[in-house]
Amino acid sequence: MRVIEHPTEMQLFSNNIRQTHQSIGFVPTMGYLHQGHISLLDAARQQSDQVVLSIFVNPTQFSPGEDLSVYPKDLPKDLDIAEKAGVDIVFTPTDKDLYGDHYQTYVQLKQLPNYLCGIHRPTHFQGVATVVTKLFNMVKPHVAFFGEKDYQQLAVIRQMVQDLNFDITIIGCPIVRESDGLAMSSRNVYLSKEQRQTALILSQSLYRSQQKVTKGITDAETLINEAKKDIESLPETRIDYVRICNKDTLEDLPEVMMDGLMALAVHVGRTRLIDNRILTREYCTVKA
Ligand code: AMP
Repeated sequence: MRVIEHPTEMQLFSNNIRQTHQSIGFVPTMGYLHQGHISLLDAARQQSDQVVLSIFVNPTQFSPGEDLSVYPKDLPKDLDIAEKAGVDIVFTPTDKDLYGDHYQTYVQLKQLPNYLCGIHRPTHFQGVATVVTKLFNMVKPHVAFFGEKDYQQLAVIRQMVQDLNFDITIIGCPIVRESDGLAMSSRNVYLSKEQRQTALILSQSLYRSQQKVTKGITDAETLINEAKKDIESLPETRIDYVRICNKDTLEDLPEVMMDGLMALAVHVGRTRLIDNRILTREYCTVKA
């Protein structure tokens, strides 16, 4: 496994790989790797000849007052995990490498960032779309892997790849959870023991909502209000949003007809957590 820091060296490596007709699978991350990241690396390993992992805490996707300065980091541990996961290249550019003096180009989507997290983090998806574009131009992957944990991010990337004609296949990978249901996240390390317990309400609300839909309660407002009540009953919680929306456009749905994405963002103490689940309505098939 090789560690590459400089963008030009990364491009040179990828050009050489492409000349040998090997495929490049790419997993972009902000590091502090956990099993969720490893699941993406495993998928990349299975589907490509060379696996590139990037570790970069992207400043342009954080707003002032968010956790950029304290975002958890442990490069030696990440390198160990990456090696065990069969990564070929770890790409670790610096802020200066990516956003040098006089930087002025950003990628902005018109519609998808206007929902869910985008409402509460208005510059976030511009930062994501910009850094992913830049990383794609440096790593030159054939396939790139993203987690459904960040559902809106995945939707933004898919749209951007289509709109800007990137010749890259985007693969979405399922959410990896702790055994008690908590979605894995680098930010879980911020939680105290009590907050960690409270945080279970996110996955529990999603699970309970699916149970209600199965029982025939499909009105979005009812489902959302009940989930909000459960969340607000716990200490140290502050809801950013609980929504049920179209899984492609992210527009609010009044009712779960066939299916719908239930997505939520909740602060537990100072930690902002997100989770989501596709709610599906199970139809009874009536024999003629
Ligand atoms: P991050 O380092 O948090 O920016 O995440 C890097 C990638 O890992 C993104 O595509 C995330 O969606 C994905 N990811 C993070 N947590 C999980 C998880 N629990 N399950 C699956 N993918 C995840």
